[in-house]
Formats: sequence, structure tokens, C-alpha cells
Amino acid sequence: MADYLISGGTGYVPEDGLSAQQLFSIGDGLTYNDFLILPGFIDFTSDEVDLTSALTRKITLKTPLISSPMDTVTESAMAIAMALMGGIGIIHHNCTPEFQANEVRKVKVLRFEQGFITDPVVMSPRQTVGDVFEAKVRHGFSGIPVTETGKMGGKLVGIVTSRDIDFLSEKDRGKPLEEAMTKREELVVAPAGVTLKEANDILQRSKKGKLPIVNNNDELVAIIARTDLKKNRDYPLASKDSRKQLLCGAAIGTREDDKYRLDLLVQAGVDVVVLDSSQGNSVYQINMINYIKQKHPELQVVGGNVVTAAQAKNLIDAGVDALRVGMGCGSICITQEVMACGRPQGTSVYKVAEYARRFGVPVIADGGIQTVGHVVKALSLGASTVMMGSLLAATTEAPGEYFFSDGVRLKKYRGMGSLDAMEKSTSSQKRYFSEGDNVKVAQGVSGSVQDKGSIHKFVPYLIAGIQHGCQDIGAKSLSVLRSMMYSGELKFEKRTMSAQVEGGVHGLHSYEKRLY
Ligand code: GDP
Ligand code: GDP
Ligand code: 5GP
Repeated sequence: MADYLISGGTGYVPEDGLSAQQLFSIGDGLTYNDFLILPGFIDFTSDEVDLTSALTRKITLKTPLISSPMDTVTESAMAIAMALMGGIGIIHHNCTPEFQANEVRKVKVLRFEQGFITDPVVMSPRQTVGDVFEAKVRHGFSGIPVTETGKMGGKLVGIVTSRDIDFLSEKDRGKPLEEAMTKREELVVAPAGVTLKEANDILQRSKKGKLPIVNNNDELVAIIARTDLKKNRDYPLASKDSRKQLLCGAAIGTREDDKYRLDLLVQAGVDVVVLDSSQGNSVYQINMINYIKQKHPELQVVGGNVVTAAQAKNLIDAGVDALRVGMGCGSICITQEVMACGRPQGTSVYKVAEYARRFGVPVIADGGIQTVGHVVKALSLGASTVMMGSLLAATTEAPGEYFFSDGVRLKKYRGMGSLDAMEKSTSSQKRYFSEGDNVKVAQGVSGSVQDKGSIHKFVPYLIAGIQHGCQDIGAKSLSVLRSMMYSGELKFEKRTMSAQVEGGVHGLHSYEKRLY
């Protein structure tokens, strides 16, 4: 530790800055731009900063970032990328229940990081090479165990993989698999009951692409794929459930027909549902929370949106596992202008988080995140995670095609309460309009955002940025950051208008702003 900090040095340091409680006791609503955090003492490197944080009561993420349930932000490609990076994506519901459930299914099962695959595609020795070609087209893989019965649980008799059929042609289509496969006697297998770690070791030693797992009767009970081991190495932060499948969330409304949507999502394996409402403190939402908690007690439920402790109280009493905070702070949002309701986001996050933590309910700071500094500010005000729309829009993984305008590469980004989104389907109408309304009142706009490249580049930038912010503050983890804030050790300061000007780039004739 530096000499000057050792007691007996220069001695007493006067109080400086405001605690969060003092900052928000002044009473005027603050946005992220209205304050700064005073720097602390650094005795660790930024890559040591641990960003592990609670998404809900039961789910923890290694990266506290969430992609918003908007139809220009999160479908399966975004949700997969976010989960691989340690965050999570929430699939939007401006689509049919079947489409949405299928997007969830793509995240949960299809071709991504698994442990034991307990329901693999299996064939019988009498099936043909043509069947494997077809499986390759339909499922995207051709490593297929062969059992006597052609089903899981049948006696293992061999395996076919891409290498067994690569050089076969159309005229070989009719060839039975018993002639193409590698036979049981030559196979390396592992016994049922093997741990994932042991199975991984065997697979590494065998240098094969697949490892079948069999029971005492030599009946197939699971397989493991080498590609999944590699993904595990490439994505150490990935958000996974107990079966090693990627985590995925989905948004639903609070109407009667959302119960059907919910059932499909649960069947698809969704880990968390977000009740998508701009003003969540309603009898509809409370009823829905009660319904879900009764029907699917294990499913994690996020309630919201709320911006006051009084709103939060009702949803916490009803049993939510996390709260989504923000009203009118989103980049595409005109709620405050039109409805006269809302709250500046800094104040919303602090007030709700300060209340909800007493009940162990984590808070998601939703909307208004324009920079990585805003993420740090949201977390330092008590949010456990941060949800983003515009910041993640126009990445490769966001839905929609790129287009050019004045030579700039763009993707569309629109509010779910914009007339544009509302015209697509009825579900976003339900978030922002009452069913019987004759006159629609838009709560969002439709626009475009400049190309940001891939989430696989952008999220690591956000992660590193948050780690650097925490380092400057002197917090080695997000839990340390929160306890510093609640103990009053973390100091804030309000920013005047001229302070904000000073804090931005100024006085240059021209400049280029490259962030990463
Ligand atoms: P293959 O060599 O053509 O079989 O394909 P890979 O092993 O490279 O990739 C297969 C991917 O699909 C892995 O991530 C698996 O976890 C996933 N997968 C999901 N279901 C199945 C299945 O039933 N069989 C196989 N072989 N892979 C599956
Ligand atoms: P690929 O790279 O996707 O074709 O799959 P693998 O590396 O799993 O398989 C390569 C070759 O080895 C194929 O001919 C397989 O049938 C065969 N093979 C797969 N598993 C085993 C095994 O456990 N033992 C032996 N001897 N051969 C295997
Ligand atoms: P952003 O990250 O772009 O600032 O904000 C995204 C958030 O804005 C979303 O997660 C959602 O809570 C909110 N939002 C999305 N669409 C609309 C809309 O049309 N109107 C309003 N008021 N909020 C929206």
C-alpha cells in the first residue's frame, strides 16, 4: 500500500463528496449524466474485477448485461451471443407464441454448448447413409450413435460421423449404416455415472469427436460432443443452467392469452420470464405473478417496470424474483412527454434498489444506457444488472438487415410502443395500449442506429470498460461496489451543466471518436 495512506502520514483528510443517500435526498430526479463518482484507491488490476451479479433471486450471471426484449434487439442470435459472453438475452414477444418459443428453443438446445446430450439423434444399423445426409441437413450435425433399436436406451452397436460418410455419394445413399459405421468393438465409451469432467478427459484422450455413454447392459444413455468442450474453453463466462445449456429469457404480457404463450416458453426450456409492461404496478401483473408462481414454481419471474418503492412493494409482495426499473428513460421512448409519468433513471434505480435489497430482490436498470460509463453508474446506484436496447441494436446479432443512408451502415431500431412496432402485431399494443382504445397513443419512436459490428467484440469492450470503472472506484467486485455505496464510503458529486460540458470532448476543431 502507498506510504501516504499509512496512518501517521499527513493525517486527517476532510470529508468530501456525497453519499448516495445524500445525493438523492436533495429531491430532484437525477439522470446518469447529472452526477459523477469520486475515484477511490487502486490495489488490483482491472482484469481482476469480478462482475458476477444476481439476475434474479436464483440466477447469477458472470456479466451483468441483458439485451432488451425488443423486436429490433433480441431474437435467438442475440440471446445466444449474450449468454456466451456471460449475460443473457430476453426474446421479445412481438411475434406469435410459436415463433417466440422456437427462438428460445434455438438458444436452449440447438448446436450450442451442452454437457451430456441426453436426447441425441440415434439411428438403427438398418437405416441408411441417406438418413445421415438428411439428419445433417435437418439438424446440422452428422455424429450419430447407432443402437440395435435405433433409439436411446437401445444396445450400442456403432457410431457414424462425418468422416464415415464424407466421401460417399448419391449412389451410396441406400447403403445400410452397419456397413458405414465404426463398430462397437472399436469404440471408446464411458460408463453411466461418469462425471462431466471425467467424460471430458476421456474424450480428450480418445481424440474423437463424440463420446457415447453406456450403462452396464451396454445401452446408450447419452453422448458428449468435442465441439462443446471447445466452446467451453472459448467462452469461460457463458451463462449456463445445470444441464450446461445456455440461459435464455423471454418476455410476456399479462393477458389471458399470455398463459398459452407461457406454456410454450416453459416447454421450450425458458429460464426466466419478464412481465413486459411500462407501468408494472397493476392488478393484472400481480395476478399473473401469482398464476406463474403457482403453476411453475421453479420459473424465475421479473416484474416491472417500476420506478418507485411503492410500486416495487406490490410486486415484491406478489413474489417477483427481480424488478425491472425504468420509465420513460429509453432512447426511443416518448412516455414522459406523452403520459406525463416517469422518472429520471438514476433516481429510479437508487430508490427501487435501496428498497428491494431488503427483500433480496435484485434490480435490473432498464433503458437510458448510452455509454459504458452509464453502466458503471447504474451498478454503483444499486442495480445488479443492466438492460440495453439502443446500445446493442445494429450489432450483427440484432434482428434485421443492414442498410445504407448517406454512406453510413445502419440497422433499424424502434420502440416497442411505436406505431411502427404496434402495426406488426398485437402484443406490443398490449404493453402500451388498452385493448379497447380506439385512439392509439404512441409511446415510442422508430429510427435507426449505426453498425457496431459483432456482440462478440462489443460486449468484451463493455466488460473491460466496467472493470476499469470499478478499478478507478476501488471496488474489486460488484458486491464490494454495492456495499461501498450503502455504507456511504462511495462518494458522488452532482454535475452542473458546465461540468457536463467540461466532461465531454471540447475545444477541438475536429476529432474522431473510436471506442475500442
Ligand atoms: P458433427 O460432428 O457433425 O456431429 O457436429 P458437431 O459435433 O461439430 O456439432 C454438434 C453440435 O450439435 C454440438 O454442439 C452438440 O451439442 C449439438 N447437438 C445437439 N443435439 C445433438 C444430437 O442429437 N446429436 C449430435 N451429434 N449433436 C447434437
Ligand atoms: P468426425 O471428426 O466428426 O468425423 O468424428 P470423429 O472424430 O468422432 O470420428 C472419426 C472417425 O473415427 C470416424 O470413422 C468414426 O466412426 C470413428 N470413431 C468415432 N468414435 C470412435 C471410437 O471411439 N473408436 C474408434 N476406433 N473409432 C471411432
Ligand atoms: P435504450 O437502451 O434504447 O435506452 O432503452 C431500451 C428500453 O426502453 C427497453 O428495454 C424498454 O424498457 C424501453 N422501451 C422499449 N420500447 C419502448 C417504447 O416504445 N416506449 C417506451 N416508453 N419505452 C420503450
